[in-house]
Amino acid sequence: MENLIYVNGEFVPQSQAKVSVLDHGFLYGDGVFEGIRAYNGRVFKLEKHVDRMFLSAKAIDLQIPMSRPEMANLILEACSRNKIETGYIRPVVSRGVGDLGLDPRKCKQGATIVIIAVPSISLYGDAYERGLSVVTASNRRVPPQCLSPSIKSLNYLNNVLARIEANHTNADEVLMLDLQGYISEASADNFFIVRNKVLMTPPTSTNLPGITRETVIDLAGQRKWRVVEQFFSLFDAWTADECFITGTAAEVGPVVKVDGRQIGEGKPGPITKELMKAYRDLVMSTGTPIPKK
Ligand code: PMP
Repeated sequence: MENLIYVNGEFVPQSQAKVSVLDHGFLYGDGVFEGIRAYNGRVFKLEKHVDRMFLSAKAIDLQIPMSRPEMANLILEACSRNKIETGYIRPVVSRGVGDLGLDPRKCKQGATIVIIAVPSISLYGDAYERGLSVVTASNRRVPPQCLSPSIKSLNYLNNVLARIEANHTNADEVLMLDLQGYISEASADNFFIVRNKVLMTPPTSTNLPGITRETVIDLAGQRKWRVVEQFFSLFDAWTADECFITGTAAEVGPVVKVDGRQIGEGKPGPITKELMKAYRDLVMSTGTPIPKK
């Protein structure tokens, strides 16, 4: 059976799920989105993702024509209609159909809402055992003075440019520096280092306040591990005991190579491994249940 996608009020088969070419999401990247995962028949941190999407929408003055609980229910319905137990969910809200001018007031019909839910597979496969390699992008992360990194917008070209460099060097992910030269985040994940058993991650002024990042900080706190939110440079990453990325898609991803430098012993370190397991246990045992159809 074809996957069913929610588009503006109805669930339609994927081949018929269409959005206008005059949609300002398409023309200008004017919109917001989320990336959410379901494990074992439950959606992990559903409310947090819905809240973040509404905050991103608020920040760009985009009215989502439904309440947060209604959005959460639609996301659950997208899962149950597609019989998804373990999967990836992508809600997208764009400014809607306008004309060729970028003024949002042209989009008189209101926001376009799309929810795609697909069965998911592991992002990096067996690389979680081996560890991931990352390189540093030559383009910098767009600074908060220009566009708040808290807005999860449809404008990901800054991240795509970085990702292309990972592809050219066959790396698994790519780190982006802020304008000061400190590490901000990876193309679609937050970044942590571990040094002398202390975890360090940059403050969210230069990166997306990741839900996985927050979860990992909680898990570290439960273990009485120190977590410091401060800016650090490539030197600190190159010479760290351990490094890892966090993201809904990547989960906790051990990084064993940064710009060609081996990290630690060149395999996932003990703190990263414990966090990977703790995160897995949490996602497999918590979340909002998907109603059975
Ligand atoms: N940074 C960026 C730029 C991202 O796109 C993502 C993925 N949403 C993250 C970090 C990680 O955020 P989360 O843990 O909420 O998925």
